[in-house]
Amino acid sequence: MANPVISVRDLVKTYHVGEVTVRALRGANLDVYPGEFVAVTGPSGSGKSTLMHILGCLDRPTSGQYILDGKDVSRMSKDELALIRNRKIGFVFQGFNLLSRTTALDNVELPLLYNGANKMKTAERHKLSREALIAVGLSERAHHYPNQLSGGQQQRVAIARALVTMPTILLADEPTGNLDTRTSIEVMDIFQRLNVERGITVLLITHEHDIAEYGTRLVRFRDGRIQVDQPITHRRNAQDELAALPPPEPEDDEPPPAHPAVVDHGGAV
Ligand code: ADP
Ligand code: MG
Repeated sequence: MANPVISVRDLVKTYHVGEVTVRALRGANLDVYPGEFVAVTGPSGSGKSTLMHILGCLDRPTSGQYILDGKDVSRMSKDELALIRNRKIGFVFQGFNLLSRTTALDNVELPLLYNGANKMKTAERHKLSREALIAVGLSERAHHYPNQLSGGQQQRVAIARALVTMPTILLADEPTGNLDTRTSIEVMDIFQRLNVERGITVLLITHEHDIAEYGTRLVRFRDGRIQVDQPITHRRNAQDELAALPPPEPEDDEPPPAHPAVVDHGGAV
């Protein structure tokens, strides 16, 4: 078997808020292999987002080890972590986290601008951003602003933004939490295609049991530890399910009413 792309040992994260100590992770162990699609479930407060932040190099563990692609990143500095994050990881959140005064295309381009070490020409950035929007089926909305897009379209822009740096790992925290059923399946179709066609490793947090079934493996958290870790034997296929649904209502060209979803509703707690 290949080496794990993510390997976590005895991961502990403790927060101190005033006098109170919160033990968000209490010794989590996890190996994720290239090309897996891991659905992470568990009750609210069980440590899912905390784990995701550490896996995504947004935060460091209090103790324990995190090996990412063979490199121990547990004790790296914030700057070193930012570099690795830019190179390897794409994030998708429940609240989309798009900049509201910025077009879809410019939102997608942002990670390329932050990518300071590797200066890219404007034309090259535009090309990559357009390709990412095409990959999520939104090229014709490139010049729309977030409040001119439906929730599902905004989430697709957010996925394109996560993809534009060509990450090998995609981390998603409740990406369908604000979406209706059909739109959720459309978003899962994109994740499944990125996983199967591009071999991107996916870790997806969800509290919805039926969304977890689009993955290849189920990991359930409880009280800061992994309680269940098992393969998903009857994986759902979003593409087939979409084909079996009645056709969607035609989208008219009027923008939908302003959507409040540019506000972060959690996810990044
Ligand atoms: P989940 O995503 O499973 O709902 P979280 O990882 O967000 O759980 O939270 C786990 C625990 O850690 C909760 O008790 C939460 O209140 C606490 N927590 C999370 N982030 C912070 C933080 N930045 N500061 C203090 N406590 C936090
Ligand atoms: Mg959470």
